[in-house]
Amino acid sequence: FDDRDGWIWMDGDFVPWREANTHVLTHGLHYASSVFEGERMYDGEIFKITEHSERLHRSAGMLDFEIPFSVADLDDAKRATCAKMGFSDCYIRAVAFRGPEQLSVSAFPNKTRVAIAAWEWPSYFDAATKAKGIRLEWAKWRRPDPATAPSAAKAAGLYMICTLSKMAAEKNGFSDAMMLDWRAYVAEATGANVFFVQDGALHTPPTDAILDGITRRTVIDLAAAKGIEVVVRHIRPEELSGFTECFVTGTAAEVTPVGQIGEYSFTPGELSLGLMEDYGRLVRRQG
Ligand code: PMP
Repeated sequence: FDDRDGWIWMDGDFVPWREANTHVLTHGLHYASSVFEGERMYDGEIFKITEHSERLHRSAGMLDFEIPFSVADLDDAKRATCAKMGFSDCYIRAVAFRGPEQLSVSAFPNKTRVAIAAWEWPSYFDAATKAKGIRLEWAKWRRPDPATAPSAAKAAGLYMICTLSKMAAEKNGFSDAMMLDWRAYVAEATGANVFFVQDGALHTPPTDAILDGITRRTVIDLAAAKGIEVVVRHIRPEELSGFTECFVTGTAAEVTPVGQIGEYSFTPGELSLGLMEDYGRLVRRQG
């Protein structure tokens, strides 16, 4: 992924894609002092751009470091990166991490480095797969207690369990894994939040052990606008037998219907497919 043409915004300037490097003794690489965002541009506009910049700032704050660029500066840099790459539809990755100034666990002298890259990344799944619903297995790893890790941050360290879970699922022929939280409540997929349908209402876990997804919030708003009830509550895995539909939400996944989680099956229906279409129209500002 490092060997391609293009430009990456690093600490205020554009550098050639292949030269956007950091030293191997970077604090963020050794101790996961790193936070990031994933965003999408649709038809020339980055969806919820400022919410993402604000979340990057909040995530850094939870890891006790500051980003030396304001939210407005980050917004400008993200737009400039897409323009420099000539994209009007793309995925944008912003990352902020502690640099290589010294390598003890404590990091007072370390500066915060910030980088923004954009690349073309069309929808994860094709229309036929979405219509059938993707298959998930249960993850072996659980989302940590907020007393164990800053679990509300979009922090690189928390993705160790996501990578383990996603790769285990793919090795077993599934698209993704559904993680439980430390109490064994249903939490989220490795890069997406989850919703279930029961009697015409949506049920989704609260954000006490999961990422407070921007797509999750958007879908809650879309559902409210259609008069669909949204119940935010803890969900036990065995309750999945009582749900008829399921879908996951995320910037990369968008709204993706789910056909299976472990031993439980779902049939993508009116609510999932309707919200999937509504989301597609909203991000492209088509009413
Ligand atoms: N949970 C996890 C673990 C994620 O990585 C993501 C993707 N950022 C989400 C949920 C969805 O968040 P968003 O809708 O803000 O992309």
